[in-house]
Parts: sequence; C-alpha cells; structure tokens
Amino acid sequence: MRILDIAERSVPISRYADPTVPSGGLTTSIVAVTTDMHRDGAPVVGYGFSSIGRFAQSGLTRERFAPRLLALADEDLATADGQTIDPFRAWTAMMAGEKPGGHGERCVAVGTLDMALWDAAAKIANVPLYQLLGEMTGRPAADASVPVPVYAGGGYYFPDDDVARLKEEIAGFQSQGFTQAKIKIGALPLADDLARIEAALSLLPADAVAVDAMNSYGPDDLPQTATALMPYGLRWFEDICDPLDYALHAETAAAYTPPIAAGEALFSAADARNLLRHGGLRPGHDVLVFDPAHCYGVPEYLRIIDVMEGGGWSRRDFLPHGGHLFHLHLAAALGLGGCEANPHNFQPFGGYADDVHIDDGHTRPPDVPGIGFETRADLIDLFRTLPA
Ligand code: MG
Repeated sequence: MRILDIAERSVPISRYADPTVPSGGLTTSIVAVTTDMHRDGAPVVGYGFSSIGRFAQSGLTRERFAPRLLALADEDLATADGQTIDPFRAWTAMMAGEKPGGHGERCVAVGTLDMALWDAAAKIANVPLYQLLGEMTGRPAADASVPVPVYAGGGYYFPDDDVARLKEEIAGFQSQGFTQAKIKIGALPLADDLARIEAALSLLPADAVAVDAMNSYGPDDLPQTATALMPYGLRWFEDICDPLDYALHAETAAAYTPPIAAGEALFSAADARNLLRHGGLRPGHDVLVFDPAHCYGVPEYLRIIDVMEGGGWSRRDFLPHGGHLFHLHLAAALGLGGCEANPHNFQPFGGYADDVHIDDGHTRPPDVPGIGFETRADLIDLFRTLPA
C-alpha cells in the first residue's frame, strides 16, 4: 500500500453566501492523496482541505510534509492487518524530526493531509469515516448512529442593512431545521453589537444564541463587554480575547457566569494543557471549540481530549469549530457534545451533504465510504480539478 501522488492548491473562500462580499482574502488548501489501491475499478483518492479561517498552507504541505508521506514504504503505511492505511502511522511519519513548540501554521498543513489520509483509509476500508474512527479509537460504531447536535454558524457582519439581513439569515437557519445559531460580535461599538444580539433573540431563546468575538477584545474592553452580555444568559461567549492570554480568560470566567467558549485558535495538546492550567474555565459548563483539522488532525485532537479529560472535562464539552463534514464524523465517532455547521458560509466547504436533513437541531454524517465529500456536488467537482 503506497501513496503515489499528493496534489495541493490554494483556493479562495468567502465568509459570505455571496462571495463578492469582501472576505479579507481568505484562502484554504485543497489536497488530493492518490493511493495505489483501487475500488470499483478506480484508484482510491483521499481529499482534504485546511478547514476554515487559517489560510492555505501550500509551501509547508508541498515542501515538507507531502514528501515524507510519498517516501513511505508499504509496511510503514498500512494497518497491522494490512487492510487499509493507518493514519496514525502516517501522522508519525509526517512529524518525523519536528521539534515541540511553535504550533503556528504547520499544524494546519499536517491537519489538512491528515484529513485526506482518513478519507482514503475509510474509502479503502469501504466504510463511512465515523465507523473507521470508532473502530480505530476503541469506541463502538453503534454509538455513532446517535444523531449529533449541530448548530448553525454564521452571523457575520453584512456591509449594509446588517441587522435586517442578520434576522433573515437566522430565520433561514431555522427553516432548515437548526435550533441554535452563532453570530459575530466585537467589530462594532458595543451598542451596535447588542442590537445584533437582540435581533437574534427576537427569533431564538437566549440559550440558543452564541456570540463569537473572534478574539477582538483585550483587557481594556473585555470586562465592560462581558458585563453587558451577562444579563442575556447566552448559550456561550466565544473567542473572547487573544487565545494565548490565559490570565484574561481566567479573570473573565471569574466574573462572567454564562458559558465561555475557547480553543479555536489553540493547536496542540501543550496549548490545551496551558488553557487547562491557567484559563480558569469550568468543566461541564464552558465549551471547547478546538478545530481538529487545525490541530494537526485526529491524532493530536485525541491527545487534546485526553489532556482535558484528565482535568475533569468531558467529551460532551467539545464542539469542534469549522462547520463541515469531517468534523461531523469526528463528533459522531468520538461522542462529542456537538458540531458546528456552516450552511452557507465558506462554500463549497461549509455544511454537510447536499441532501442533509437537520431534524430539530440534530443530524448524522452520510453513510458513504470515506468522509462523503462525494455527497457535495460543488465540493467534489472542485477536488477533482486537482492536480491542475
Ligand atoms: Mg470562533
């Protein structure tokens, strides 16, 4: 079992359903990992992308990590029973010679390739990813048949008519079957953000509305903002400040009673340990939004779960950021508390299968081999343009 080719390309993505709205030049990497295995007469190809929000990782992927995978011999890539690719062994090979620390961007390159390796491994095994993940991480696949709680991420600022369009967006989520939504704050004066929150609360109960400040607050304005938000009793307050300012997290958690969400911009088990030790967050109450594809992929994400479980947290406290199919499989397979969905942002990557059914805020990953990118017409068409 060998990897014959790895192709990567940077592609633009938009935070908006309308991609002409400026989105800061955001990109992501798409990758295709071609194996020497065949299914239905065609080579098995695993696909992956760099989740959303951290830009493409072309140089690291092409120059550093893909060559290490391409150099692997059969016996270094396969599972012990030889039935499929072992993504854990591949991960170890990718990280050979890498020093601890500096978890900045290489974690995204590795996570992107890890996603494609899992897609290929599940396709070779001819099972949906959640089933393979359950088998390889010791969790019964039957548990993954339970629908996953999902919430709609979105609520970005619109360049005009912001509050009215925000309400339309949330109503759209509700019409699709979502019962919870997350909106952005932190880029406008507090009074304007409170108007956004109250618009959301005109459609949803407070414990169904989360706000994401995208790390925009600092010690000068976070206390005042937290004081203003607290009476609403929102579902959670996410990315409240610089992700590495653990002390400010702790000070806020000591004063702000409703849940806080953190972890989206922390990329390793070492970072998670610092959050645990110094962040002052509350197990069973606050929310952990680590993005597995940004955290070096599944192997490191499992270590992050171990670190947090060792500090009294539960898998139910984890709700991965990203809003796409790969993380839905992880949430189902690992028994996490839920998963973000991006029904119309970050297309064609955001959201689940084209024919997904969201039932009272719950859904399941598609029952097709691999991650199921083939259930997304626009997305699989994009992946199949590789290696061009
Ligand atoms: Mg966030």
